[in-house]
Amino acid sequence: MSPRYAVFGQPIAHSLSPRIHALFGTQLGIAIDYRAIEAGRGEFADRVEAFAHDSGRGANVTLPLKEDALALCADLSERARRAGSVNTLIRDGERWCGDSTDGIGLLRDLRERRACDPHDLRVLLLGAGGAARAAAFALADAGVRELVIANRTLKRAEALATAIGDAAHVGVRAWSTLASARPFDLIVNATAAGHANAALDVPRTLLDEQTLCYDLSYGKAACAFLDGARKSEATRLSDGLGMLVEQAAESFFLWHGVRPDTAAVYAELRDSPTAPAAS
Ligand code: NAP
Repeated sequence: MSPRYAVFGQPIAHSLSPRIHALFGTQLGIAIDYRAIEAGRGEFADRVEAFAHDSGRGANVTLPLKEDALALCADLSERARRAGSVNTLIRDGERWCGDSTDGIGLLRDLRERRACDPHDLRVLLLGAGGAARAAAFALADAGVRELVIANRTLKRAEALATAIGDAAHVGVRAWSTLASARPFDLIVNATAAGHANAALDVPRTLLDEQTLCYDLSYGKAACAFLDGARKSEATRLSDGLGMLVEQAAESFFLWHGVRPDTAAVYAELRDSPTAPAAS
C-alpha cells in the first residue's frame, strides 16, 4: 500500500491542508494520498495508531490536538520540544517523531510575503497556546528588540516568557492594561478568539501607521482581530493563509525531502473563489 498522509483535528472539514498538499504533489510530480481525519481529544491516540497500521507515514495535527500529539511522540525536534506542541508527525519505523513547523511558517510568511523581518522590531503577541508558543520562540530567535506576550490567562503568558528565558527582550503584559501600552511594529494574534466569534479590541494606542497586524488564522476566524484592527485604523493587515502554506511546505519537506514552491500555491488559494478573502 502506498504511504498515506493526513491532518487530524476537530473540526477538520474546513481544513485547506489536503488541497495544499495535493497542489504541492502535483507541482513536484509526487502522488500524494493526504486526507482530513476528524478526531477529538479522547479518540486521537487510537485514530493515529489505526492510521499508522494503515500505511500512515506522516500527519499534521491541528486544534485541539497539538499538545496531545506531543505525548504520542518517541522523539521530538528541538523546536517542538521548546514550543511544547507538535503539528507534524513523522513515522520512523514503529514510532512517531514530532516537529513543529508553525514558527518557521510564520517567519517565512512575514519575511517573504509581508516584507516584515522581525529582527529589531517591537512585537506584541496575543495568546499563549500551542501556536503562540511556537511563534514566540521563533520571534525571539529572529532577534526581536522586544517581545511582549499578553494572554487572557496571564499565568500562561508568564510561563511562556519564563520558558524563553530572555528577560532582556521578552516580557508579559496583563490583557487588561494593553490599552496603555505604546505602539508596536508588529502585533501577532495567536488566540483562538476568532473561532468562538468573540470580538477582539485592538486599542488605537497600540498602533502607528507602520504597525503590521497579523492574525495566525484565516477566513472567518481571522475577522474578529482584523476587524478590530481596522476599526482602530490599522492599515497593514494580514491573515495567516501564507503561514498555513509555509508551515505545510516545511511538513512536506520533512516527509518527502523536497521543498515545494509556495508562491504558486499561495496565489492559487488566495485567488480561488472558495478561498479566504484577502485581508
Ligand atoms: P490553543 O492552544 O487552543 O490556544 C488558544 C489561545 O487562544 C489561548 O492563548 C487562549 O487563552 C486564547 N483564547 C481563546 N479564546 C479566547 C478569547 N475569547 N479571548 C481571548 N483569548 C482567547 O490554540 P492554538 O493551536 O494555539 O491556535 C491559536 C490560533 O492560531 C487558532 O486560530 C489557529 O487556527 C491559528 N493557527 C494558525 C496556523 C497557520 O498555519 N496559519 C497554525 C497554527 C495555529 P487562554 O490561555 O486564556 O485560554
